[in-house]
Amino acid sequence: MKSEAVPAAQALPDSSGIDLYAADPSFGPLLGLYLAPELQRHLAPHFTRLGELAGGELDRLAADADRNPPVLHHRSRAGEDRQWIEKHPAYRRLEEVAFSEFGLAAMSHRGGVLGWPHALPPAAKYALTYLYVQAEFGVCCPLSMTDSLTRTLRKYGDPVLVARYLPGLTGQDLDALTQGAMFMTEQGAGSDVGGVATRAMKDGDTWRLYGDKWFCSNADAGLAMVLARPDGAPAGTKGLALFLLPRVLPDATANAYRIVRLKDKLGTRDMASGEIALEGARAFLVGDPGRGFVQMTDMINLSRLSNGMRAAGMMRRALTESLFIARNRVAFGRTLIELPLMRRQLMKIMLAAEAARSVMLHTAVELERADQGDDAARRRVRILTPLLKFRACRDARRATGDAMEVRGGCGYIEEWSDPRLVRDAHLGSIWEGTSNVVALDVMRAIRREESLAALLPALEAILPDGAFGTALRETLGRAAAFAEDTAHKRDDAHARQAASGLYYATAAAVLASEGSRLAASGDARRLLLAGLVLEHRLRARDPLHPALLDDAWAELLLPETPVAPAHAERLLEKRESDPIF
Ligand SMILES: Cc1cc2nc3c(=O)[nH]c(=O)nc-3n(C[C@H](O)[C@H](O)[C@H](O)COP(=O)(O)OP(=O)(O)OC[C@H]3O[C@@H](n4cnc5c(N)ncnc54)[C@H](O)[C@@H]3O)c2cc1C
Repeated sequence: MKSEAVPAAQALPDSSGIDLYAADPSFGPLLGLYLAPELQRHLAPHFTRLGELAGGELDRLAADADRNPPVLHHRSRAGEDRQWIEKHPAYRRLEEVAFSEFGLAAMSHRGGVLGWPHALPPAAKYALTYLYVQAEFGVCCPLSMTDSLTRTLRKYGDPVLVARYLPGLTGQDLDALTQGAMFMTEQGAGSDVGGVATRAMKDGDTWRLYGDKWFCSNADAGLAMVLARPDGAPAGTKGLALFLLPRVLPDATANAYRIVRLKDKLGTRDMASGEIALEGARAFLVGDPGRGFVQMTDMINLSRLSNGMRAAGMMRRALTESLFIARNRVAFGRTLIELPLMRRQLMKIMLAAEAARSVMLHTAVELERADQGDDAARRRVRILTPLLKFRACRDARRATGDAMEVRGGCGYIEEWSDPRLVRDAHLGSIWEGTSNVVALDVMRAIRREESLAALLPALEAILPDGAFGTALRETLGRAAAFAEDTAHKRDDAHARQAASGLYYATAAAVLASEGSRLAASGDARRLLLAGLVLEHRLRARDPLHPALLDDAWAELLLPETPVAPAHAERLLEKRESDPIF
């Protein structure tokens, strides 16, 4: 018997084709705080187009590419020994949008991308990529590695190498583009990179590399930065030199390395990560042979910042989807968003997503200052980067998982975006340093570079006046003191706790600063978000005390519409005497 069609009222709400920029009404006004007005006006149509693409074509392509992982071939059908990675057309199109149409890897290195005459500032790059990653995470790895390899090469590379490879690295024609990669870790050298056993032997003007690299994402990239130990160099990170490894040598012959196999991964299934055997591969020394690891740190830190941005983007997608479902799905005669317990869950996703977005944009502006020679900003970026990478990537695991549950059973089904988001989110906290390792790096930044001494006064300076500003200042001071103490006592066991506290205190300060600036034009939403972070992440709570969420907060925040400053002030004053959660 033919079944009846599902009545429209019972059909599952489907957000496919949603404009991910328009569905995020806070983003435009927020960008007004981080981009110069002329630049924001110029980029407005690009954000609009990318928002439409991300919720439509890119989302469909990402699902397709995820179902069709790359395949490694070793021989041509005519018997010629030649390696290549076959990539699904959906992946190629995802690359085309990122590298070619939007020039996301090139825009920091030259003018002319998206019609802007100068190199675009980091805030513009991260804001656009934040939108792109809401559809596709896999391509963002090659994108970030191409961008960061270019930066490191320009900073430390021989001008001859820079002149030879820069045009390919910053090209927007996919066929002529040279992508970047980072072959650093090995079986015996993951977190502990000082264990790298790959050997480097001088051979004329260049070097020959011998060894096994165990995790090589974007395995067929045209150029990779590789850490290796020159014969006779000391043990540990001090003995590591940095090399540029081309896939094809200047005389057009294939370089002497083999992709042994591709990894079968939980997430980023469409992007090829492989194991690589270096068999006398020819490579060019980059910079000072005694400072290979220090130079590589520049690339690692930029990749970490990119990872934090991606976690923020994935959380935004999780929030957009959750709000969409909650506004449209009906249970027990009410839309989900009307149900008190669901409102609480949505607020939790929103808190993590908004905190990460604010820290990401704030860090991007600090990076721009640092690149212009501001040393205090450099020290702030040094600590903000691992703070964001550590905590936002952790939060993304939970936020994407919670969003999956908001969709109910369908959230667990692969034809919806949630499973891919959850799988990808888990990778963020593992690669480019696991959570433990990155939290310890926060402590190192405090100990060795006095980064906290640069961060704290800068955050204090942006706090709003009044009782709420005082509460934030007091909490920020406590978080900083705890982190300082943990770092100097080398109390590793508490590094994550200290880094989490410092991250949320930073987020609360930045949100409050954004909130008071936006309140001037009538929207105090971000002041309330700062209040939520303070209450929910930084205040002591009794787990056996009813954790009350004053519904007035959800009422104001969940619609994502402007909140009148007077409303926000009343709630923030009440917060001092009456816990929210
Ligand atoms: C999909 C994927 C792609 C990757 N792509 C690349 C790539 O392109 N290039 C590249 O170079 N690498 C890449 N990696 C490698 C990645 O960076 C490492 O896997 C990661 O840094 C962890 O190293 P490990 O696997 O050796 O784990 P280990 O270092 O063995 O860590 C195991 C556990 O020990 C913990 N641990 C280690 N040290 C400490 C400590 N001091 N205190 C407390 N806990 C500690 C870690 O947190 C972790 O939980 C990739 C990994 C994955 C999964």
